[in-house]
Amino acid sequence: MAASGKLSALRLPPLPTIREIIKLFRLQAVKQLSQNFLLDLRLTDKIVRKAGNLTNAYVYEVGPGPGGITRSILNANVAELLVVEKDTRFIPGLQMLSDAAPGKLKIVHGDVLTFKVEKSFPGSLKRPWEDDPPNVHIIGNLPFSVSTPLIIKWLENISNRNGPFVYGRTQMTLTFQKEVAERLVATTGSKQRSRLSIMAQYLCSVKHIFTIPGQAFIPKPEVDVGVVHFVPLVQPKIEQPFKLVEKVVQNAFQFRRKYCHRGLSMLFPEAQRLESTGKLLRLADIDPTLRPTQLSILHFRSLCDVYRKMCDEDPQLFGYNFREELKHKKDKPLEREEEESCGL
Ligand code: SAM
Repeated sequence: MAASGKLSALRLPPLPTIREIIKLFRLQAVKQLSQNFLLDLRLTDKIVRKAGNLTNAYVYEVGPGPGGITRSILNANVAELLVVEKDTRFIPGLQMLSDAAPGKLKIVHGDVLTFKVEKSFPGSLKRPWEDDPPNVHIIGNLPFSVSTPLIIKWLENISNRNGPFVYGRTQMTLTFQKEVAERLVATTGSKQRSRLSIMAQYLCSVKHIFTIPGQAFIPKPEVDVGVVHFVPLVQPKIEQPFKLVEKVVQNAFQFRRKYCHRGLSMLFPEAQRLESTGKLLRLADIDPTLRPTQLSILHFRSLCDVYRKMCDEDPQLFGYNFREELKHKKDKPLEREEEESCGL
């Protein structure tokens, strides 16, 4: 008796299926908004299981849509689930879930790019950064056009310990286009190594936990989808401001198939380019003929530390942006054919 009582407390009561919810509320996916829904509750359960132990957790789900992942989270015995959804059409279906799980589900009609989750959960959940992660989790299957800018924003939040990371080292389980998931975890020397690999890995332990084939979604996207788990590191592998790291990494990958000195030289104004690039690489102890993809996080750490010193010696340097210089000069087009298409 006790066991079945416990079970009924954990599980949602019988509800229409997600497919029925979609029909009931006429929730046709809007292709332009890249709405691809997961209807298979075994898959949504798997995403939630891989997010970690959610017992009594406070969970922030981004882009719940018709609520497949939302149901799996509610079934994981969480203390509270906060969902932020931009498209009003989904709110009544989510409300039905909220009625089925009284007091557990909070629905916000809003935009995850601006929503401030740091004010949403009890302050008592906060843990010192060095402790184990707090019982706060972020989970979401967002359109790819939103998930990439959002992870960059959250990586900056991790570096500054603000936003969702005021609670401590909040874990995230998010979906990306498979190719982006592969970049996020790409190791030194691999073909997929990119800006995103360095930016994510200097701040987090990043795992591509599994891939969901495109055909599992309705409508089917062009690509497969990677589920990625992030845990912020106690000690970032590069200890410089996020914007400085971003600038060094962005320049290094400017010409990804050329020697690394080529992209890094663009950190410096033309008049001092040759000399300063030589100094940067010498002091950072880096072979100028390594390709950007061959640079390890430790290499980037040295580059950022030396570049920081050079910026301290020359306060104008950090503000220098070669693109601005080019705009003024209307110079010959840059050799940008090799820059990654999405810029990351
Ligand atoms: N999570 C659901 C699932 O897995 O079936 C829906 C996935 S669908 C790819 C993405 C959802 O995110 C849609 O419901 C869409 O309306 C919502 N969305 C898109 N951009 C958003 C934003 N900036 N803020 C909040 N929600 C957003």
